[in-house]
Amino acid sequence: MTVIISTIILLGVMGFGFGIFLAFAAKKFEVKEDVRTIAVQASLPGINCGACGFPGCSGFAKAYIENRAKNDGCLPGRKSGVPQKLEKISKLTDDQLQKFFEETEGDIEKTIKKIMEN
Ligand code: SF4
Repeated sequence: MTVIISTIILLGVMGFGFGIFLAFAAKKFEVKEDVRTIAVQASLPGINCGACGFPGCSGFAKAYIENRAKNDGCLPGRKSGVPQKLEKISKLTDDQLQKFFEETEGDIEKTIKKIMEN
Protein backbone atom coordinates (compact mmCIF):
# COMPACT_ATOMS: atom_id res chain seq x y z
CA MET A 1 0.00 0.00 0.00
CA THR A 2 2.79 2.43 0.89
CA VAL A 3 4.48 1.59 -2.44
CA ILE A 4 1.35 2.66 -4.34
CA ILE A 5 1.01 5.91 -2.37
CA SER A 6 4.70 6.78 -2.73
CA THR A 7 4.47 6.04 -6.49
CA ILE A 8 1.47 8.34 -6.84
CA ILE A 9 3.27 11.09 -4.93
CA LEU A 10 6.43 10.61 -6.99
CA LEU A 11 4.51 10.78 -10.28
CA GLY A 12 2.64 13.87 -9.07
CA VAL A 13 5.88 15.64 -8.17
CA MET A 14 7.45 14.63 -11.50
CA GLY A 15 4.39 15.85 -13.42
CA PHE A 16 4.48 19.15 -11.59
CA GLY A 17 8.21 19.53 -12.27
CA PHE A 18 7.85 18.72 -15.97
CA GLY A 19 4.93 21.16 -16.19
CA ILE A 20 7.06 23.96 -14.78
CA PHE A 21 9.93 23.04 -17.10
CA LEU A 22 7.65 23.08 -20.17
CA ALA A 23 6.14 26.42 -19.18
CA PHE A 24 9.64 27.87 -18.77
CA ALA A 25 10.83 26.39 -22.10
CA ALA A 26 7.76 27.72 -23.94
CA LYS A 27 8.47 31.22 -22.66
CA LYS A 28 12.23 31.03 -23.21
CA PHE A 29 12.04 29.71 -26.79
CA GLU A 30 8.95 31.66 -27.83
CA VAL A 31 9.10 32.72 -31.49
CA LYS A 32 7.97 36.32 -31.88
CA GLU A 33 5.77 36.90 -34.87
CA ASP A 34 6.92 39.59 -37.26
CA VAL A 35 4.00 42.00 -37.57
CA ARG A 36 5.22 43.38 -40.91
CA THR A 37 5.22 39.93 -42.48
CA ILE A 38 1.78 39.22 -41.06
CA ALA A 39 0.43 42.57 -42.33
CA VAL A 40 1.88 42.16 -45.85
CA GLN A 41 0.59 38.60 -46.11
CA ALA A 42 -2.85 39.63 -44.89
CA SER A 43 -2.98 42.34 -47.56
CA LEU A 44 -2.52 39.82 -50.37
CA PRO A 45 -5.38 37.88 -51.98
CA GLY A 46 -4.04 34.59 -50.64
CA ILE A 47 -4.84 32.55 -53.73
CA ASN A 48 -1.22 31.41 -54.18
CA CYS A 49 -1.44 31.60 -57.96
CA GLY A 50 2.25 32.35 -58.52
CA ALA A 51 1.54 35.13 -61.04
CA CYS A 52 3.94 37.38 -59.12
CA GLY A 53 6.81 35.03 -59.92
CA PHE A 54 7.25 33.90 -56.32
CA PRO A 55 6.24 30.62 -54.70
CA GLY A 56 2.87 31.71 -53.36
CA CYS A 57 1.73 34.70 -51.36
CA SER A 58 4.13 34.03 -48.48
CA GLY A 59 7.02 34.01 -50.97
CA PHE A 60 5.88 37.32 -52.41
CA ALA A 61 5.45 38.79 -48.91
CA LYS A 62 8.98 37.74 -47.95
CA ALA A 63 10.37 39.16 -51.21
CA TYR A 64 8.46 42.42 -50.76
CA ILE A 65 9.78 42.90 -47.24
CA GLU A 66 13.32 42.24 -48.52
CA ASN A 67 12.81 44.82 -51.31
CA ARG A 68 12.94 42.17 -54.03
CA ALA A 69 9.36 42.80 -55.19
CA LYS A 70 7.38 45.89 -56.08
CA ASN A 71 4.05 47.13 -54.70
CA ASP A 72 2.20 46.11 -57.83
CA GLY A 73 3.87 42.71 -58.20
CA CYS A 74 0.71 40.83 -57.23
CA LEU A 75 -1.25 40.81 -60.49
CA PRO A 76 -4.62 39.62 -59.08
CA GLY A 77 -4.33 42.16 -56.26
CA ARG A 78 -3.84 45.22 -58.44
CA LYS A 79 -7.53 45.97 -58.77
CA SER A 80 -8.34 45.17 -55.16
CA GLY A 81 -5.99 47.77 -53.70
CA VAL A 82 -3.02 45.60 -52.75
CA PRO A 83 -0.43 48.11 -54.06
CA GLN A 84 -1.97 50.88 -51.93
CA LYS A 85 -2.02 48.66 -48.83
CA LEU A 86 1.60 47.62 -49.32
CA GLU A 87 2.60 51.25 -49.87
CA LYS A 88 0.98 52.27 -46.57
CA ILE A 89 2.54 49.36 -44.68
CA SER A 90 5.99 50.10 -46.06
CA LYS A 91 5.79 53.69 -44.81
CA LEU A 92 5.18 52.60 -41.21
CA THR A 93 7.94 51.81 -38.75
CA ASP A 94 7.98 48.49 -36.93
CA ASP A 95 6.87 50.27 -33.75
CA GLN A 96 3.93 51.94 -35.51
CA LEU A 97 2.87 48.61 -37.00
CA GLN A 98 3.16 46.92 -33.63
CA LYS A 99 1.06 49.69 -32.06
CA PHE A 100 -1.71 49.23 -34.65
CA PHE A 101 -1.55 45.48 -34.11
CA GLU A 102 -1.86 45.82 -30.34
CA GLU A 103 -4.66 48.39 -30.59
CA THR A 104 -6.73 45.91 -32.56
CA GLU A 105 -5.79 43.10 -30.14
CA GLY A 106 -4.01 41.16 -32.87
CA ASP A 107 -6.90 41.16 -35.35
CA ILE A 108 -4.96 41.58 -38.59
CA GLU A 109 -8.02 42.50 -40.68
CA LYS A 110 -8.79 45.36 -38.30
CA THR A 111 -5.11 46.30 -38.28
CA ILE A 112 -5.06 46.62 -42.08
CA LYS A 113 -8.29 48.62 -42.00
CA LYS A 114 -6.85 50.95 -39.39
CA ILE A 115 -3.63 51.37 -41.38
CA MET A 116 -5.63 52.30 -44.47
CA GLU A 117 -7.66 54.88 -42.54
CA ASN A 118 -4.55 56.70 -41.35
S1 SF4 B 1 0.34 36.97 -57.60
FE1 SF4 B 1 -0.60 37.68 -55.68
S2 SF4 B 1 -2.15 36.12 -55.21
FE2 SF4 B 1 -0.75 35.21 -56.72
S3 SF4 B 1 0.82 34.15 -55.44
FE3 SF4 B 1 1.61 36.19 -55.90
S4 SF4 B 1 1.00 37.40 -54.13
FE4 SF4 B 1 -0.27 35.56 -54.09
